[in-house]
Amino acid sequence: MMIEPKQKTKNNFLNELQKSEIEDLAEYIANEYSPKGAINLEGIAENNGITFSYGNYKDAFDGLLEHSFGNFHIYINIDRLEHGYTERARFTFAHELGHYFLDNHRNALAQGLAPSHPSFTGFISENLVERQADYFASCLLLPKTRIKIDCFKRKFEFKLIQELSKKYQTSITATALRYSSIGCSPIMVAYCMNNSIKWYWKTTEFPFWVLKFGKSKVPENTAAGEYFSKNRRYTTAEIVYAEDWFDVKFDRDRERQFLEHCVYGTNGSVLSIVWEK
Ligand SMILES: [Zn+2]
Repeated sequence: MMIEPKQKTKNNFLNELQKSEIEDLAEYIANEYSPKGAINLEGIAENNGITFSYGNYKDAFDGLLEHSFGNFHIYINIDRLEHGYTERARFTFAHELGHYFLDNHRNALAQGLAPSHPSFTGFISENLVERQADYFASCLLLPKTRIKIDCFKRKFEFKLIQELSKKYQTSITATALRYSSIGCSPIMVAYCMNNSIKWYWKTTEFPFWVLKFGKSKVPENTAAGEYFSKNRRYTTAEIVYAEDWFDVKFDRDRERQFLEHCVYGTNGSVLSIVWEK
Protein backbone atom coordinates (compact mmCIF):
# COMPACT_ATOMS: atom_id res chain seq x y z
CA MET A 1 0.00 0.00 0.00
CA MET A 2 2.79 2.41 0.75
CA ILE A 3 5.13 1.74 -2.03
CA GLU A 4 5.57 -0.81 -4.70
CA PRO A 5 5.15 -4.16 -3.01
CA LYS A 6 8.07 -6.38 -3.93
CA GLN A 7 5.97 -9.45 -4.14
CA LYS A 8 3.59 -11.19 -6.48
CA THR A 9 1.35 -8.50 -7.96
CA LYS A 10 -2.27 -8.87 -7.12
CA ASN A 11 -5.06 -6.81 -8.58
CA ASN A 12 -6.03 -5.54 -5.19
CA PHE A 13 -2.76 -3.75 -4.62
CA LEU A 14 -3.03 -0.03 -5.04
CA ASN A 15 -1.36 1.33 -8.13
CA GLU A 16 0.79 4.46 -8.11
CA LEU A 17 -2.03 6.69 -9.37
CA GLN A 18 -4.47 5.49 -6.71
CA LYS A 19 -1.81 5.98 -4.06
CA SER A 20 -0.92 9.51 -5.08
CA GLU A 21 -4.60 10.51 -5.26
CA ILE A 22 -5.24 9.12 -1.79
CA GLU A 23 -2.08 10.76 -0.44
CA ASP A 24 -3.07 14.15 -1.91
CA LEU A 25 -6.56 13.93 -0.42
CA ALA A 26 -5.24 12.96 3.03
CA GLU A 27 -2.64 15.75 2.90
CA TYR A 28 -5.32 18.29 2.04
CA ILE A 29 -7.54 17.17 4.92
CA ALA A 30 -4.64 17.18 7.37
CA ASN A 31 -3.63 20.72 6.40
CA GLU A 32 -7.19 22.01 6.26
CA TYR A 33 -8.47 20.69 9.59
CA SER A 34 -5.40 19.90 11.69
CA PRO A 35 -2.52 22.01 10.41
CA LYS A 36 0.07 21.37 13.14
CA GLY A 37 1.69 18.39 14.87
CA ALA A 38 -0.27 15.20 15.56
CA ILE A 39 -3.54 14.92 13.69
CA ASN A 40 -6.68 15.76 15.66
CA LEU A 41 -8.96 13.03 14.31
CA GLU A 42 -11.97 13.87 16.45
CA GLY A 43 -11.66 17.50 15.35
CA ILE A 44 -11.70 16.42 11.69
CA ALA A 45 -14.84 14.35 12.35
CA GLU A 46 -16.56 17.20 14.18
CA ASN A 47 -15.68 19.69 11.45
CA ASN A 48 -17.30 17.42 8.89
CA GLY A 49 -20.45 16.63 10.86
CA ILE A 50 -19.38 13.03 11.57
CA THR A 51 -20.36 11.78 15.01
CA PHE A 52 -18.37 9.09 16.80
CA SER A 53 -18.42 6.91 19.88
CA TYR A 54 -16.14 4.50 21.69
CA GLY A 55 -17.77 1.30 22.86
CA ASN A 56 -17.40 -2.37 23.76
CA TYR A 57 -18.16 -4.64 20.84
CA LYS A 58 -16.02 -7.67 21.71
CA ASP A 59 -14.37 -9.06 18.57
CA ALA A 60 -16.92 -7.81 16.06
CA PHE A 61 -14.67 -5.15 14.50
CA ASP A 62 -11.96 -2.58 15.22
CA GLY A 63 -13.95 0.24 13.70
CA LEU A 64 -17.11 0.85 11.70
CA LEU A 65 -18.53 3.74 9.68
CA GLU A 66 -22.29 3.76 9.66
CA HIS A 67 -24.57 5.77 7.41
CA SER A 68 -28.13 6.54 8.36
CA PHE A 69 -30.34 9.13 6.66
CA GLY A 70 -27.49 11.33 5.56
CA ASN A 71 -25.60 11.09 8.86
CA PHE A 72 -22.31 9.32 9.34
CA HIS A 73 -21.16 7.81 12.61
CA ILE A 74 -17.85 6.18 13.51
CA TYR A 75 -17.77 3.38 16.07
CA ILE A 76 -14.44 2.53 17.67
CA ASN A 77 -14.25 -0.78 19.52
CA ILE A 78 -12.25 -0.27 22.70
CA ASP A 79 -12.47 -3.99 23.50
CA ARG A 80 -9.94 -4.63 20.76
CA LEU A 81 -8.09 -1.31 20.95
CA GLU A 82 -7.80 -0.83 24.75
CA HIS A 83 -8.92 2.77 24.84
CA GLY A 84 -9.67 5.56 22.42
CA TYR A 85 -6.19 7.04 22.35
CA THR A 86 -3.97 4.06 21.65
CA GLU A 87 -2.00 4.16 18.41
CA ARG A 88 -4.21 1.37 17.05
CA ALA A 89 -7.42 3.17 17.97
CA ARG A 90 -6.13 6.29 16.24
CA PHE A 91 -5.19 4.31 13.16
CA THR A 92 -8.66 2.75 13.14
CA PHE A 93 -10.33 6.15 13.51
CA ALA A 94 -8.27 7.48 10.59
CA HIS A 95 -9.16 4.38 8.55
CA GLU A 96 -12.89 5.01 9.12
CA LEU A 97 -12.39 8.65 8.10
CA GLY A 98 -10.92 7.21 4.89
CA HIS A 99 -14.21 5.43 4.21
CA TYR A 100 -15.88 8.80 4.57
CA PHE A 101 -13.48 11.01 2.60
CA LEU A 102 -12.81 8.64 -0.28
CA ASP A 103 -15.68 9.52 -2.62
CA ASN A 104 -16.41 6.05 -3.90
CA HIS A 105 -16.49 4.62 -0.36
CA ARG A 106 -18.85 7.29 0.99
CA ASN A 107 -21.10 7.22 -2.07
CA ALA A 108 -21.41 3.45 -2.01
CA LEU A 109 -22.37 3.62 1.66
CA ALA A 110 -24.76 6.55 1.22
CA GLN A 111 -26.50 4.95 -1.74
CA GLY A 112 -26.83 1.65 0.05
CA LEU A 113 -24.62 -0.06 -2.52
CA ALA A 114 -22.27 -1.28 0.17
CA PRO A 115 -23.32 -2.13 3.71
CA SER A 116 -21.43 -0.77 6.70
CA HIS A 117 -18.64 -3.22 7.01
CA PRO A 118 -16.63 -4.12 10.07
CA SER A 119 -13.06 -2.94 9.58
CA PHE A 120 -10.03 -4.72 10.98
CA THR A 121 -7.19 -2.31 10.53
CA GLY A 122 -3.43 -2.51 10.45
CA PHE A 123 -2.30 -3.66 7.02
CA ILE A 124 -3.87 -7.11 7.35
CA SER A 125 -6.69 -6.94 4.86
CA GLU A 126 -6.32 -8.17 1.29
CA ASN A 127 -9.42 -6.30 0.24
CA LEU A 128 -8.83 -3.29 -2.03
CA VAL A 129 -11.29 -1.01 -0.24
CA GLU A 130 -9.63 -1.80 3.08
CA ARG A 131 -6.17 -1.24 1.63
CA GLN A 132 -7.28 2.14 0.34
CA ALA A 133 -8.63 3.09 3.78
CA ASP A 134 -5.42 1.85 5.47
CA TYR A 135 -3.33 3.86 3.03
CA PHE A 136 -5.48 6.94 3.60
CA ALA A 137 -5.03 6.46 7.37
CA SER A 138 -1.26 6.31 7.16
CA CYS A 139 -1.11 9.39 4.89
CA LEU A 140 -3.47 11.34 7.14
CA LEU A 141 -1.72 10.46 10.40
CA LEU A 142 1.76 11.03 8.98
CA PRO A 143 1.39 13.88 6.47
CA LYS A 144 4.14 13.99 3.88
CA THR A 145 5.01 17.70 4.16
CA ARG A 146 5.33 17.53 7.94
CA ILE A 147 7.44 14.38 7.87
CA LYS A 148 9.73 15.84 5.21
CA ILE A 149 10.31 18.92 7.37
CA ASP A 150 10.96 16.74 10.45
CA CYS A 151 13.45 14.61 8.50
CA PHE A 152 15.16 17.41 6.62
CA LYS A 153 18.91 16.80 6.51
CA ARG A 154 18.66 14.01 9.06
CA LYS A 155 20.46 10.80 8.37
CA PHE A 156 18.29 7.79 8.99
CA GLU A 157 18.52 6.11 12.38
CA PHE A 158 15.93 4.12 14.31
CA LYS A 159 15.59 6.98 16.79
CA LEU A 160 14.00 9.03 14.01
CA ILE A 161 11.15 6.51 13.68
CA GLN A 162 10.70 6.55 17.45
CA GLU A 163 10.55 10.35 17.47
CA LEU A 164 8.03 10.51 14.63
CA SER A 165 5.96 7.77 16.22
CA LYS A 166 5.82 9.72 19.46
CA LYS A 167 5.12 13.05 17.81
CA TYR A 168 2.32 11.77 15.57
CA GLN A 169 1.00 9.10 17.98
CA THR A 170 1.39 6.28 15.49
CA SER A 171 2.80 2.79 15.91
CA ILE A 172 6.44 2.05 15.08
CA THR A 173 5.27 -0.23 12.25
CA ALA A 174 2.96 2.35 10.67
CA THR A 175 5.62 5.04 11.06
CA ALA A 176 8.41 2.94 9.52
CA LEU A 177 6.17 2.01 6.58
CA ARG A 178 5.18 5.60 6.00
CA TYR A 179 8.80 6.73 6.23
CA SER A 180 9.80 4.15 3.60
CA SER A 181 6.98 5.38 1.39
CA ILE A 182 7.83 9.08 1.64
CA GLY A 183 11.43 8.26 0.89
CA CYS A 184 13.37 10.79 2.95
CA SER A 185 16.20 8.25 2.81
CA PRO A 186 16.10 4.67 1.57
CA ILE A 187 15.12 1.92 4.01
CA MET A 188 13.62 -1.54 3.87
CA VAL A 189 10.96 -2.61 6.35
CA ALA A 190 10.26 -6.33 6.70
CA TYR A 191 7.65 -7.94 8.91
CA CYS A 192 8.73 -11.46 9.82
CA MET A 193 6.74 -14.21 11.46
CA ASN A 194 7.50 -17.93 11.96
CA ASN A 195 10.86 -17.48 10.24
CA SER A 196 9.29 -16.25 7.01
CA ILE A 197 8.62 -12.78 5.67
CA LYS A 198 4.96 -11.79 5.75
CA TRP A 199 5.50 -8.55 3.83
CA TYR A 200 8.21 -6.05 3.12
CA TRP A 201 8.48 -2.61 1.61
CA LYS A 202 11.43 -0.75 0.22
CA THR A 203 11.89 2.89 -0.59
CA THR A 204 12.17 3.30 -4.35
CA GLU A 205 15.82 4.37 -4.01
CA PHE A 206 16.79 1.31 -1.96
CA PRO A 207 19.17 -0.99 -3.90
CA PHE A 208 17.08 -3.14 -6.20
CA TRP A 209 18.43 -6.53 -5.07
CA VAL A 210 15.90 -9.22 -4.31
CA LEU A 211 15.62 -10.99 -0.96
CA LYS A 212 17.96 -13.95 -0.64
CA PHE A 213 15.22 -16.55 -0.09
CA GLY A 214 12.30 -14.49 -1.31
CA LYS A 215 9.66 -14.37 1.37
CA SER A 216 9.92 -18.03 2.26
CA LYS A 217 12.71 -17.80 4.85
CA VAL A 218 14.41 -15.10 6.90
CA PRO A 219 18.15 -15.32 6.07
CA GLU A 220 20.06 -16.76 9.05
CA ASN A 221 22.88 -14.22 9.20
CA THR A 222 20.59 -11.26 9.71
CA ALA A 223 19.49 -9.87 13.07
CA ALA A 224 15.92 -10.99 12.36
CA GLY A 225 17.20 -14.41 11.28
CA GLU A 226 19.15 -14.84 14.52
CA TYR A 227 15.96 -14.30 16.49
CA PHE A 228 14.33 -17.24 14.74
CA SER A 229 17.39 -19.53 14.68
CA LYS A 230 19.04 -18.64 18.01
CA ASN A 231 16.37 -16.70 19.89
CA ARG A 232 18.85 -13.81 20.05
CA ARG A 233 17.49 -10.31 20.52
CA TYR A 234 19.36 -7.10 19.84
CA THR A 235 18.53 -3.83 21.48
CA THR A 236 20.55 -1.69 19.10
CA ALA A 237 21.14 -1.67 15.36
CA GLU A 238 23.43 -4.46 14.13
CA ILE A 239 25.78 -4.37 11.17
CA VAL A 240 24.74 -6.72 8.36
CA TYR A 241 26.14 -7.08 4.86
CA ALA A 242 24.26 -6.79 1.62
CA GLU A 243 24.77 -10.49 0.91
CA ASP A 244 23.25 -11.43 4.28
CA TRP A 245 19.81 -10.18 3.26
CA PHE A 246 19.94 -10.06 -0.50
CA ASP A 247 20.80 -11.95 -3.62
CA VAL A 248 23.61 -9.64 -4.74
CA LYS A 249 24.81 -10.02 -8.31
CA PHE A 250 28.12 -8.16 -8.25
CA ASP A 251 31.04 -8.96 -5.96
CA ARG A 252 31.69 -5.30 -5.31
CA ASP A 253 28.25 -5.01 -3.65
CA ARG A 254 28.45 -8.08 -1.42
CA GLU A 255 30.09 -6.43 1.54
CA ARG A 256 28.26 -3.15 1.46
CA GLN A 257 27.41 -2.48 5.07
CA PHE A 258 23.89 -2.02 6.32
CA LEU A 259 22.40 -1.50 9.73
CA GLU A 260 19.46 -3.56 10.90
CA HIS A 261 17.24 -2.66 13.82
CA CYS A 262 14.70 -5.22 15.04
CA VAL A 263 11.54 -4.59 16.99
CA TYR A 264 10.25 -7.77 18.65
CA GLY A 265 6.51 -8.19 18.89
CA THR A 266 4.65 -9.95 21.70
CA ASN A 267 3.18 -12.37 19.13
CA GLY A 268 6.59 -13.74 18.07
CA SER A 269 6.89 -11.34 15.15
CA VAL A 270 9.96 -9.28 14.26
CA LEU A 271 9.81 -5.96 12.49
CA SER A 272 13.17 -5.44 10.83
CA ILE A 273 14.30 -2.08 9.53
CA VAL A 274 17.38 -2.10 7.26
CA TRP A 275 19.33 0.86 5.90
CA GLU A 276 22.76 1.42 4.41
CA LYS A 277 25.46 2.46 6.85
ZN1 LIG B 1 -12.57 -0.53 6.62
